[in-house]
Amino acid sequence: MTNADPQELAKFSELAHRWWDPESEFRPLHQINPLRLDWIDQLASIQGKRVVDVGCGGGILAESMARRGAHVLGIDLADRPLKVAQLHAMEGGVANLEYRSVAAEALAAEQPGQFDVVTCMEMLEHVPDPASVIQACTDMVKPGGWVFFSTLNRNPKSFLLAIVGAEYVLKLLPKGTHDYARFITPAELNRWIRESGLDTFQMKGLEYNPLTRIYKLSSDTSVNYLVACRKAAA
Ligand code: SAH
Repeated sequence: MTNADPQELAKFSELAHRWWDPESEFRPLHQINPLRLDWIDQLASIQGKRVVDVGCGGGILAESMARRGAHVLGIDLADRPLKVAQLHAMEGGVANLEYRSVAAEALAAEQPGQFDVVTCMEMLEHVPDPASVIQACTDMVKPGGWVFFSTLNRNPKSFLLAIVGAEYVLKLLPKGTHDYARFITPAELNRWIRESGLDTFQMKGLEYNPLTRIYKLSSDTSVNYLVACRKAAA
């Protein structure tokens, strides 16, 4: 059985044609992309590296990493976002970028320890068994390699900002984009990371100012946050 929720995949497929419109539902991903790209690149220096982006969707992060010179494979289980990603890369003439419809667990079994860097952003909160995806990411990365995760914290503030604020008040996201019960606390994420065999290297918060509509990386992990992990060198 695949570790995926068909309703979640259908939701992303339905919106896929708007993925690259920076004013669409995907505006937040467009806005945070330069921040996360720079952070990943500063830590893992991705140029020339083999990178897999798990849950790549329409390819906002995957394509930007390829443009920085990484050899990127983007994987997802929603077909339409993958098609949009492929088309966008083709139109832009981006080299070093491939997309595949394959589960993280299946790719980990097929290509264990083959990637220098694994990224898995804004995806864990959409899957039934996030620990299994984390284990797959750990299995895919080479010893000494980097794994990056980002997700949404679970507490009253994140409920208010990520669901009530983003979906109902500011209408940045369609209603039902996120399911509060699937949000993940840093303690839970850190435990799964440790149990999978990775070490947490750095954790950053992503702060949103609704007045200026600007995101920035900070130490406040109470809503959106990112984690950089390393696999011990062999
Ligand atoms: N990582 C991208 C897209 C985030 S949107 C970015 O940050 O820019 C969440 C993505 O996770 C969607 O593309 C959705 O199809 C994908 N997804 C959800 N469940 C999945 C699963 N079980 N396996 C692979 N991808 C999944």
